[in-house]
Amino acid sequence: MHAIVVGGGIGGLATARGLGQQGWDVTVLERQPDLRQIGAGISLWPNALRALHHLGLGDAVERAGGRIRGGGLRTWDGRWLSRVELGAPPVMVHRADLHEILLDGLPATIRSGHPVTDVHALDADLIVGADGIRSAVRAAYTPKTKIRDSGQVSWRAVVDAETPGGGETMGPRGWRFGYAPTGHGTVYWYVAAPGPLRTGTPAEQLAELRSELSSWHDPVGRLLDATPPELLLHHPLLELHPVAPMRFGERVALVGDAAHAMTPNLGQGACQALEDAVTLALLLPKGAPVPPALEVYDQQRRARTAAISRQSRQIGRLVGAKGRLSGALVRTLFRLTPDRLAAAGAQRVAAWSPEDVKRPADVNRDAGVRPADGRR
Ligand SMILES: Cc1cc2nc3c(=O)[nH]c(=O)nc-3n(C[C@H](O)[C@H](O)[C@H](O)COP(=O)(O)OP(=O)(O)OC[C@H]3O[C@@H](n4cnc5c(N)ncnc54)[C@H](O)[C@@H]3O)c2cc1C
Repeated sequence: MHAIVVGGGIGGLATARGLGQQGWDVTVLERQPDLRQIGAGISLWPNALRALHHLGLGDAVERAGGRIRGGGLRTWDGRWLSRVELGAPPVMVHRADLHEILLDGLPATIRSGHPVTDVHALDADLIVGADGIRSAVRAAYTPKTKIRDSGQVSWRAVVDAETPGGGETMGPRGWRFGYAPTGHGTVYWYVAAPGPLRTGTPAEQLAELRSELSSWHDPVGRLLDATPPELLLHHPLLELHPVAPMRFGERVALVGDAAHAMTPNLGQGACQALEDAVTLALLLPKGAPVPPALEVYDQQRRARTAAISRQSRQIGRLVGAKGRLSGALVRTLFRLTPDRLAAAGAQRVAAWSPEDVKRPADVNRDAGVRPADGRR
């Protein structure tokens, strides 16, 4: 059985590994000539860590990253609005390290420098579109899902620094700053703010951030000062709406941002791509019929990822509230919400485990469908 995975990002490499471990002959087609990633930090919640452990990569990722302890939400003068503990703390890892771990010993053939343009010309028993928010695979099957601009932009970097714990800070006019240690003497920070993409040089943009956040609590200024302009990443915050179907016909599936790119307010985009990858591989042991597996895959993944994407968008609108009054109201709301309650939503998202994946036979049994030979 041969599978083609289009895209060698986090979702594509995890899918290739999962299918390879199930005995599939996998080819990854990646448009970039070089699979090495730049990027900044990526937070991996317990759900993603369980997916990585299932793939045999959890220990390596935990060694490569830093634990996010003592997280929560603060105001720019440093007062805590809420504290969120998830039981097992998430791991913050540099995206390049995660990529390297996913690539190490990958049981698949990788063809880099290979952009897929004609999806219908691909020939395999299974085709997986893992080609990101502007997916060519998705576009070949559905025009309904559109890219939506949240109206916010982000800046990110990983810098040499030390901080105790991490967290997010809400400031005036919808500006936010977050940070967490990536382990090994480095810290990831991000800024999210309303407005258009800036066109100035990275040094000019850093100067804007320093001026905008000059009165914010430590370590905000310290982390901005430790950032060389060439490390600064600047992107619009986009999402797909609605999330796409996750299978088309009898042999095409989508994983990750190709199906459900979401705003990063919950830090769940890559975590969901990892859940997709493990679910798809668990449903497709070697020799399993592909069409019923893909149907069950879509049933199990689409509703969950749509709900998480919606939650992420709502959080973005709340914490990114631009007005003086709306900002004050949101801060009061967070201050009055018990930490227990704030953590409950996050815990529901983080609770996923590979053991939750239902096979087609389980789904039929739950629905009361008799197998063809009449056995129960
Ligand atoms: C600012 C920001 C912060 C984020 N922080 C977090 C976080 O903390 N935690 C988290 O879980 N998620 C986070 N995310 C989301 C996360 O980055 C994405 O969800 C994740 O990278 C999706 O992985 P993917 O493999 O599905 O897609 P991508 O990473 O987009 O990979 C797609 C791959 O497909 C290739 N490709 C595209 N088109 C073709 C083609 N036609 N042919 C061949 N190859 C092709 C691309 O070159 C790329 O390598 C963040 C996102 C942003 C924007």
